[in-house]
Amino acid sequence: MKKVTNHPFAETLITWYKDHARDLPWRRTNDPYVIWLSEIILQQTRIAQGLPYFYTLTEAFPTVYDLAAADETTLFRHWQGLGYYSRARNLHKTAKHVVDMLDGKFPETYSELIKLPGVGPYTAAAIASFAFGEASPVVDGNVYRILARYFGIETDILHASARKEFTALAQELIPHTDPARFNQAIMEFGSLQCSPSPDCGSCPLISSCFAYREERVNQLPVKSKAKPQRIRHFQYFIIAQAGKVLVHQRQAKDIWQGLWEFFCVESPDLQETINLHPFLSPLMGHAVALQAPGVHVLSHQKIISAALLVQLPSDFKFEKPSDYQWILSSEFEQLGKPVLLLNLITDNIALKEILEG
Ligand code: SF4
Repeated sequence: MKKVTNHPFAETLITWYKDHARDLPWRRTNDPYVIWLSEIILQQTRIAQGLPYFYTLTEAFPTVYDLAAADETTLFRHWQGLGYYSRARNLHKTAKHVVDMLDGKFPETYSELIKLPGVGPYTAAAIASFAFGEASPVVDGNVYRILARYFGIETDILHASARKEFTALAQELIPHTDPARFNQAIMEFGSLQCSPSPDCGSCPLISSCFAYREERVNQLPVKSKAKPQRIRHFQYFIIAQAGKVLVHQRQAKDIWQGLWEFFCVESPDLQETINLHPFLSPLMGHAVALQAPGVHVLSHQKIISAALLVQLPSDFKFEKPSDYQWILSSEFEQLGKPVLLLNLITDNIALKEILEG
């Protein structure tokens, strides 16, 4: 790779940033806890969607001690709707680790931050630079895009070697005098200027941009095809009896681990589901179909759902599955649950009334 030391790239970006930076709350602090929290919230999440969660979570848990002391159900309830619940679980784990093992203080260097659970290279570099002024470059999809276009890098960004190559280049570019500002600037530039549909006409780098000069803007960065989406079918049975509803907490290493849901079977076919779980058969006389949310799209999965509401008379006897439990219907509101179920409840007044007690 050619040397880029003293390249005007960094200076141009920082000048651009002074005029274009959005005023975001996590940019007004150098508290590593707040920066870390914002970075975890913003993983796989747009700023507009993440912002209300940032306010809610920093209000509910103003310090790492508050977060470490929180119970998981409360945290999941605040996290509800953000998706990727492994992030919330890791958040909790990391907060406890920082409190129990590090006396409540975040490590100050990239090489120590990266050892924390759920903290990857991007988040470690963000905290190290924003909170502690270390010259660690952030490298994410935005940075890949800018560097690939501007410097004409043809490496497939999904290839294992890409991170090393792009990080080495960013490491050469980041000024040691103001690394935090450079990282903020390159992230913002990727979001607002050199976006997937870039505004090259107003770009301050246009005169030296490889992709613009070579008319390759739409071909860079190079990205091989992502793996195909997995399609899954979930059959939900909301089984209610005598003011209670049957629920369980998802345990398996799968989507929505730790969240609560109604009786659920993964199968594309209702009859097959009943054959697999014979206890359902006598319940069907009390079942009505609900309007299901239909298709729910996650990053690599598509969930196609159907739902039946089963309201049983109080003297109806059946043997519930051992991993399910009865709770008061009104308690379901307090539990963390997937967005798919939130939508199901919102769309069905009869179900909403049952759960409101
Ligand atoms: S000229 Fe276009 S492609 Fe090149 S850096 Fe600017 S916005 Fe990106």
